[in-house]
Amino acid sequence: MSNYKSGLEYALEQDLNDPLKAYRNLFHIPKNERGNEWIYMTGNSLGLQPKSTKKYINQELGDWANLGVEGHTQGKTPWLPYHEFLTKSMAKIVGAKPIEVVVMNTLTVNLHLMMVSFYQPTKSRYKILIESDAFPSDKYAVESQLRHHGFNDKEGVVLWKPRKNETLLRYDDLEDILEKQGNEIALIMIGGVNYYTGQFFDLKRISKLGHDKGCVVGFDCAHGAGNVKLNLHDSGADFAVWCTYKYLNAGPGSLAGCFIHERHAHNKNLNRFTGWWSHNKNTRFNMRDEFDQLPGAEGWQLSNPPILSLAAIKASLDMFEEVGMDNLVVKSKKLTGYFEFLLKNLGEDIVKIITPNDVNQRGCQLSIQVKRNNKALHDKLNSQGFISDWREPDVIRCAPVPLYNTFEDVYKFVEKLKAIINE
Ligand SMILES: *Cc1c(COP(=O)(O)O)cnc(C)c1O
Repeated sequence: MSNYKSGLEYALEQDLNDPLKAYRNLFHIPKNERGNEWIYMTGNSLGLQPKSTKKYINQELGDWANLGVEGHTQGKTPWLPYHEFLTKSMAKIVGAKPIEVVVMNTLTVNLHLMMVSFYQPTKSRYKILIESDAFPSDKYAVESQLRHHGFNDKEGVVLWKPRKNETLLRYDDLEDILEKQGNEIALIMIGGVNYYTGQFFDLKRISKLGHDKGCVVGFDCAHGAGNVKLNLHDSGADFAVWCTYKYLNAGPGSLAGCFIHERHAHNKNLNRFTGWWSHNKNTRFNMRDEFDQLPGAEGWQLSNPPILSLAAIKASLDMFEEVGMDNLVVKSKKLTGYFEFLLKNLGEDIVKIITPNDVNQRGCQLSIQVKRNNKALHDKLNSQGFISDWREPDVIRCAPVPLYNTFEDVYKFVEKLKAIINE
């Protein structure tokens, strides 16, 4: 889209005509001491709080106060099946079938549980392929799984790396790795949208490449869920995990999502860790039965979940249900395209965008490098209420989030960036 214009009037006009403009008002936007709203460009790290969240949590606090243990069955949204109330909306967001999705645990915990089932190494096929700039927690988790199975974590990790002087990953190189080492690789585990560069991978293509070589394929979609259309079911991936506190606005440390492809839904031979919440719901409380595996993603649950966190997730998912990912992505592409346009006007010799230009290979985040500047620039922006996030060695990640960020936010952010660079 090349019909963007510079100037504040253009931004204000876009906001006025934005079909999703009402949603910003449904969020708490943090303010400085003088009462001015922050320009919050870091929903990729922690999404803002919907104003409705308090109501959802208060309802559960009220039911607990008034009903005690009876809240499990008599509450307005009874706690026993509470996680089921999230499944349909969550499945829609990630493009999955309800039987493939469950909300449980936290992200890295789910990643480990998935590897318990889907990382089954043998002497000749034990390696795990990840992207070289993977989120540290994923890298640590993968390495510890290798050690857990008695393998050397240096030899066991295969990295998909960018070429010299490049930052993005190329599929040619992945094909090359798989051609050479495919039959030594047990698991491919990639961040669906890379947290650092913002590169959104072709999940279907990677799944196909991996499966053709006999590898299991899983994705960490922490930066994808609520940001891009993941189409997890169609991707054919074996599993995926994601958190809900980034684009899904469910609050710090809130519970995570988990996807297990339908073709594994009834497989009772998959190795897994179990608890009473993985057991048949109808006989769970008999407490004496032989273990009877629940089908689908629910069968990977262990514990009865923290309802207050589920309530915060429900508040957010109800909003996503109303907006729909299609509408969100339309605005997202426009808003981030505008951001890109303004940044490019600053001069590509001054600001380099490392995120892909192709709108189908990115979400709302743009990762930028500002020449001849360092972390001081980012700190200056933050201290003046222009909130973005710094990643060593030299990247500022900025994410205009279509649910609550405006064209005016983007305009002001770039103006401030320009002013600081020119100081
Ligand atoms: C945010 C994020 C995490 C964080 O893991 P938690 O278990 O939620 O602390 C891990 N991996 C990726 C790719 C992330 O983006």
